[in-house]
Amino acid sequence: MPWGCRGERILTKGGTVMVKTTAEWTGVIVVGSFELDCRLFGATGRAKPLPLKMVHIDCKTVLEEEAAEPIEKEEKPESEAAAPIETREQIFCPKCQIPLRADQIGRGIETEVGTILLLETELNSLEFEPAKRVTANLIAADDPTFTATGFGRRLYVMPKPAAVGTWNQVFHVLKESQRVGFLNPIVIKRKANVGILRPLVVPAIVFGEERAILVLDMLNDTDCLKDPASVPDYPRILPPINVAELAKPIADAQAAIGRLDPERCVNPKRIQIKKVLTQAMERSLKR
Ligand SMILES: [Zn+2]
Repeated sequence: MPWGCRGERILTKGGTVMVKTTAEWTGVIVVGSFELDCRLFGATGRAKPLPLKMVHIDCKTVLEEEAAEPIEKEEKPESEAAAPIETREQIFCPKCQIPLRADQIGRGIETEVGTILLLETELNSLEFEPAKRVTANLIAADDPTFTATGFGRRLYVMPKPAAVGTWNQVFHVLKESQRVGFLNPIVIKRKANVGILRPLVVPAIVFGEERAILVLDMLNDTDCLKDPASVPDYPRILPPINVAELAKPIADAQAAIGRLDPERCVNPKRIQIKKVLTQAMERSLKR
């Protein structure tokens, strides 16, 4: 299922489709001396669909009822989603009871005061053209919004041969100033993204040697992020904390000097496949 979302579709009396949030995992996470009995729910979902509708230009009747949010559909590639009207089946206006030509169909948004048709220029402003030059705004690297929003895809930023010096300078300026470059938008394959340009030093344990690299991390769309208060079990009201009781667990936690072993970041299924392959090769050699 896309977006890491699990939901059960329920048809209500009114015919609207609701998605019931179901837990992805139920169990106990042990943290130090604590046993946390919990359920896991997806934090992100499908962004609200754009309110654009196909409209018969003459009578302003909406031609297709787009599925009411929050149905979680398969993510369609952008090109498919923007399929030209011509390739669609014959469209009828339910009010005028006539078949419509492509030039009789516009796009609009339903509002309380009726359907508002969008002009060509307004529609064009919704298309993002790729740019050959984008400017990064500098912001603090530890901005709490990044952590709250979370990252999706990571891209490596590689210099062209003549730009190695600049690449290195940018790396050091960002690293030393503890700033990142905020890019909005960066259009990739016609899709507008919001990203963070940041310097990384990958420790030697990952690739055998330390690697300095500039990366572009795409931020999750805040429109896709669910308000935790809308997810089951969110504790809005918290019981009081007994500070004295926590002194020892805090001291114990501070004494922990664990470092992340990159092997532990690998999907355990991959590690298991490597193990199974090694065993199979050993077996075949013994014969
Ligand atoms: Zn009509």
